[in-house]
Amino acid sequence: MSHTLTPIDFRRNSQHVAPPLRAATQKNTRTAVLKRAEAVEQLGDALWQQLRQAAHDARLHTLLHLDEYLLQLEAQVTQAGGYVHWANDAAEARRIVLEIARQHAVQRVVKVKSMLSEEIELNEALRDAGIAALETDLGEYLVQLDGSRPSHPTAPALHMTKEDIAALLRAKLGVDAPPDPQVLTEIARTRLREEFLAAEMGLSGGNFLVAETGTLVLVTNEGNGRMCTSLPPVHVAVVGIEKTIPNWDTLAVLLNLLPRSTTGQQITSYVTCITGTRAGGPREFHLVLLDNGRTRILRDERARETLLCIRCGACANICPVYNTVGGHAYGWVYTGPIGAILSPQLIGTTLARDLPFASSLCGACADICPVKIPIPEILLHLRHRVVEGDAFAAPAAPPILRAGAQGVGLALGMPLLYEIGTQLLRRAQFPLKRGAWLPTLPPPLNRWTMTRPLPAFGATIRDWMRARTPGGAVRVRARNLALALAAVGAIVLGLVFAFNRRRGK
Ligand code: SF4
Repeated sequence: MSHTLTPIDFRRNSQHVAPPLRAATQKNTRTAVLKRAEAVEQLGDALWQQLRQAAHDARLHTLLHLDEYLLQLEAQVTQAGGYVHWANDAAEARRIVLEIARQHAVQRVVKVKSMLSEEIELNEALRDAGIAALETDLGEYLVQLDGSRPSHPTAPALHMTKEDIAALLRAKLGVDAPPDPQVLTEIARTRLREEFLAAEMGLSGGNFLVAETGTLVLVTNEGNGRMCTSLPPVHVAVVGIEKTIPNWDTLAVLLNLLPRSTTGQQITSYVTCITGTRAGGPREFHLVLLDNGRTRILRDERARETLLCIRCGACANICPVYNTVGGHAYGWVYTGPIGAILSPQLIGTTLARDLPFASSLCGACADICPVKIPIPEILLHLRHRVVEGDAFAAPAAPPILRAGAQGVGLALGMPLLYEIGTQLLRRAQFPLKRGAWLPTLPPPLNRWTMTRPLPAFGATIRDWMRARTPGGAVRVRARNLALALAAVGAIVLGLVFAFNRRRGK
């Protein structure tokens, strides 16, 4: 897709997480999780679950009829005086935006809701064309000043403390900036006001596109959304096609879920609804509808629910892996559990082959997701695609890994084989066992024990249950011995057979 992407090395990235960054991430995510829980409690669990199901069903229905809703959306936007552009990929979207900018001799652009424009590397394209693009979400603004990447889907500067921000503003703006959130916000606000007034073009993303009226919806808290989309004479919105929803009823459901999941608010400070051009607003409104791999995701029945995402960030807040490694370890625009399933599908499992494995599969992300995306199931599906190789770039995994995965799959599907395997493991572990632990394993298994010991294999739960019946303990011992002997016998026979065949040749 892009000209600058390199393979994401999640393992390496996660080894270089500075402790203060981890601490700041954990403090901020904990606050977000607690606020969300309070907001959900106020609504009541029964109603919350109904809303989640309704949102899931409505979003899935839209995706399955996306062709119809997109045409309806286009017709409505056009009727309201806007222009609709279709972009197949990132390069086409950049070309469209640059063309509009050229037509209006744009020198300065102010931006809001920029995640998608980062996906298509729009800032770099604007810079190369001599156009200054300024992020105006406070977190994005700070990250841009810092020259780094956002670390969270909704809180781009989540990894920064107020002390970090004060130091950044002092260094980059040369102002007196104490570590006081109110003063720091005031400094950014003063700077940004001048930029809103000077910019010739406002560039936005969008939370939702309402097909029945052709309305772009922005959900914000800082007021910059309205500034960006009303002060400059031209407004260009670049939005992924999956953000389309059928009608305002669906919007009402989603607006109940999104702010509660993101910040624990009942509603955000601003919900901006833009339908075409309007009196007192920009003279021109352009909507760029971006595919960039989304229809390919839609074709994969087992992964298409990825596109239901409303980018609330709740899955990242609750995720133990995200909380340990921070957002930058995910190596691209999308972070946390949603990044682990979305990035491999957008940029390919070759570049992002680590990400589906960046999860403990605890399931907390699926439990918290307001639109009920089955993230663990999609992670497993993508792991399978990485190992087997898929039509979108990933070559198959090395034969030894494939054979191992197939062996485990076979054993898990056949109870007798599984029991024989566990008996063999229990016996094979003796030389390595220290008390109840296996402190060091041979390569390549030592990648686990380099950082923590592995509990030794004990009795299986089946044996534990069997031993609780009268005379069960003796029967279990005898059975396990027989299984182990049978396994050893089968291995010896196999070796003899292989040896004879080799000699026969
Ligand atoms: S996957 Fe669900 S929880 Fe995560 S950002 Fe998307 S909507 Fe929110």
